[in-house]
Amino acid sequence: MIQRAQALAALSENEFDLVVVGGGITGAGVALDAATRGFSVALIERADFAAGTSSRSSKLVHGGLRYLQNFDLALVREALLERQLMVALAPHLVHPLPLVVPAFDGARPDRLMGVGLNLYDAMSVDRDRLRSRRGKRARGERAQNASAMGDELQETARPVQPEEGESWSPERHRIVSGEEVLELLPALAAREPTSGYLFYDCQTDDVRLVLTILGEAERFGAACANRVDALSLLQRDGRACGVRALDRESGEELEIRAANVVNATGVWADRLGVAAADEDDDEASVAGLDHAAGDPSAGRSVGESRGASELPRIRPSRGTHILLRHEDLPLVGGAIVPADAGRTIFALPWLGRTLVGTTDLDYEGELDHVRPSGEDVDYLLSAINTFFETTFGVGDLAGAYAGVRPLISSGDPKKSVDISRKAELYEASSGMLTITGGKLTTWRRMAKLTVDRIVERDSREAPCRTHEIPLGQGVAVEDLPRVEGVPEKSYAALAGRYGYAAREVLALAAERGELAQPIVPGLPDLLAEVALAARREQARSIGDVLLRRTRLGLLAARELPVQRVADVLARELGWSPQDAAREIERFAEEAEAEGIRADSAAPAVAEGAAASHVREAGEPEVHSA
Ligand SMILES: Cc1cc2nc3c(=O)[nH]c(=O)nc-3n(C[C@H](O)[C@H](O)[C@H](O)COP(=O)(O)OP(=O)(O)OC[C@H]3O[C@@H](n4cnc5c(N)ncnc54)[C@H](O)[C@@H]3O)c2cc1C
Repeated sequence: MIQRAQALAALSENEFDLVVVGGGITGAGVALDAATRGFSVALIERADFAAGTSSRSSKLVHGGLRYLQNFDLALVREALLERQLMVALAPHLVHPLPLVVPAFDGARPDRLMGVGLNLYDAMSVDRDRLRSRRGKRARGERAQNASAMGDELQETARPVQPEEGESWSPERHRIVSGEEVLELLPALAAREPTSGYLFYDCQTDDVRLVLTILGEAERFGAACANRVDALSLLQRDGRACGVRALDRESGEELEIRAANVVNATGVWADRLGVAAADEDDDEASVAGLDHAAGDPSAGRSVGESRGASELPRIRPSRGTHILLRHEDLPLVGGAIVPADAGRTIFALPWLGRTLVGTTDLDYEGELDHVRPSGEDVDYLLSAINTFFETTFGVGDLAGAYAGVRPLISSGDPKKSVDISRKAELYEASSGMLTITGGKLTTWRRMAKLTVDRIVERDSREAPCRTHEIPLGQGVAVEDLPRVEGVPEKSYAALAGRYGYAAREVLALAAERGELAQPIVPGLPDLLAEVALAARREQARSIGDVLLRRTRLGLLAARELPVQRVADVLARELGWSPQDAAREIERFAEEAEAEGIRADSAAPAVAEGAAASHVREAGEPEVHSA
């Protein structure tokens, strides 16, 4: 990415077709989509890129098997097709993950789950591709894949394999033996599984996906800066014509002029939107955006002339994840783990650890730092301990995190777990577009929906191109140059994180030998990545590096070498010893506020006032992303 100072200069000097507020996956997607259609684009992010929900997901690029239960079929279908596309566009970042639903004591795997998986398989097939493939197949083979639902034959049908030159397409689910279950879930050895369903979804590193999309947007001319807070909407004749913003580093205000404003602020969307609706109609006026107000419900009732439907009403729902060391709970594939009240959670291998989550509970607390509650952590531990016959306690956790889903309230008191993950686009009478809801997986569709509307308003001819824009560039691990001192296992990790750009990390490590060392001994992330994060990815703090550019804050929360990271950043960012000491202190506060060491998780009572009135029968609502 371009340097922050350079991006800031571009933001204040130019007039843009579009300014995007919010640097999560949604904002990044809108910036890429618009830039690739020829719009000039500015993007500002108040905190760090992906610092909101987009760094706190379950890391799945998936259709969401669970949404089939809610008959959210269109959403599942859309997400499944996006999943397939993401593997093609970013194969180094989005990769297939086998998932297993184990069965024990000779019991048949659950039939209902089999029906759901049949449907999931059927919906994940790209019909155009299937048609052409079928045309080439012999009649007898074709019969094997003919029926979509409820056909037991399908459970043993041959997997649909990609033909030469084709991208990944998921294999059909199938029943596997107990031995195969154990190969994928060695942690289940004590329970001796006898069979299970095997199916596929995809996995990513959510922050790296956001950074990669932003990098591509910049390649098409977008200017993106973090730590720039949209304070107010600029308006001319009642129409949005940019934003007044605050550079949170210098404390200076700037005006970003743009013909279109897109609010992609996730769970903050109603704060930005409502105040924008509170406009007066003075010429070139500035509408106050009261997003900094502590009360999340502030202004929600303020309707604008076109009625409530032009603004979303966000109903945040918190999801908690915990991480265990791979050695403690070894997994090769993911497991669907039963939890209380007939719900399920995931246990997934992720970046050398085991990631367990998630809960799904209405949330009314502070949005900037969302901590895992003690109760959520206990809930996840209890499910894991029961399923794997283990005795993990909070002290065994490698890390933990929580995030809030930007769910759109329909006004009815549904449980958050039942609220659709559908995205919605709102258009205010000022012309500001707000895009929120949705999922990490469906970012491209959300972006398309938004930019299509701008294209329509402008009467332009500019079709969406993001389905054909590669996200970064993959690289074969063996093609990366070997650098003295870099541990062998770091190469695969670098290739997975940066693709071809891993060469830049290695060049830094070659230039300054001390940067060839791992940040945390035994883990693959290199000190050279700290320097690269500051130089190329606008990292400005220790938290930017440990929580987002690398994920060490989640993977190794108890063993973070904060001083080493500060030393590298100090050299890159010109920090004095006093600056570095202050930054270390700031990170300690951030880590505490985020609750990454679950043992310091706030007791549930501290947040109970917010949560208890929506929780039923005392248990968290659980499941998936
Ligand atoms: C626990 C959990 C698990 C999930 N798992 C999955 C999953 O596995 N797969 C999946 O597909 N989806 C998943 N999701 C959903 C997915 O993570 C979200 O839908 C997605 O990340 C939302 O992205 P966003 O860009 O809309 O919001 P965000 O990522 O929150 O981005 C909004 C950004 O706007 C910025 N902002 C706010 N106000 C301002 C302002 N005034 N000026 C400038 N910037 C501002 C914020 O700092 C923030 O960075 C999960 C969500 C949760 C909570």
